[in-house]
Amino acid sequence: MISALQHYLFCPRQCALIHLEQLWSENYLTASGKLNHERIDSGIKESRKNVRKVSAVRLFSRTLGITGIADVVEFYLQSEQSDSFENTVILNGVQGRWKPFPVEYKHGTVKSTAIDEVQLCAQAICLEEMMNVKIESGALFYHKTKSRVIVEFNPALRDLTAEITEKIHTLFRSGITPEPVVSDSCKACSMRDLCQPEITSNGKNASQWLKKYVGEMIQ
Ligand code: SF4
Repeated sequence: MISALQHYLFCPRQCALIHLEQLWSENYLTASGKLNHERIDSGIKESRKNVRKVSAVRLFSRTLGITGIADVVEFYLQSEQSDSFENTVILNGVQGRWKPFPVEYKHGTVKSTAIDEVQLCAQAICLEEMMNVKIESGALFYHKTKSRVIVEFNPALRDLTAEITEKIHTLFRSGITPEPVVSDSCKACSMRDLCQPEITSNGKNASQWLKKYVGEMIQ
């Protein structure tokens, strides 16, 4: 799933807990994100003269080995005078040639890492493969600040996206959930109760824990 990229960049253990061990737990951040996505995920289509918007677009990339759903893909009509219709698509039942532009909605604010950019770039790579076009840019919309940030899909971002994807495939092939590393991420992590980072980090394992706590009780 494309969402695994975000989870991996947040914390590789969280990614493994969710996608490998199939665990899930909500906190206020995931719940508020869910609410913000309700309208977007309902599959609404909107159209204005030069822009068509399609939400909840199913995606896949055989190259990256990923699948997912784009919040919104906007399509911009190219003028008849346009020099080139390169990287445009034909839409069913609509005249003209259209440029796809993915938009991802986020409930928070702009982050200090490339976590959101990587997710959007993965969506763009899927769309490129599915529609046989090149997509130069997309946008992230942050609900909290009501701001739209344009993201250029430059070679560095594309390389990072491919690198993270490969790391996730390697993680899933190994079938081993990484040990926790206690960090600031833990404070905002919805999986904290399931992860128990304080108990299992720093080389402590379940048998040590059982020996210490259960062993003392049966002595
Ligand atoms: S609690 Fe911390 S170590 Fe555990 S999954 Fe969350 S971020 Fe990772």
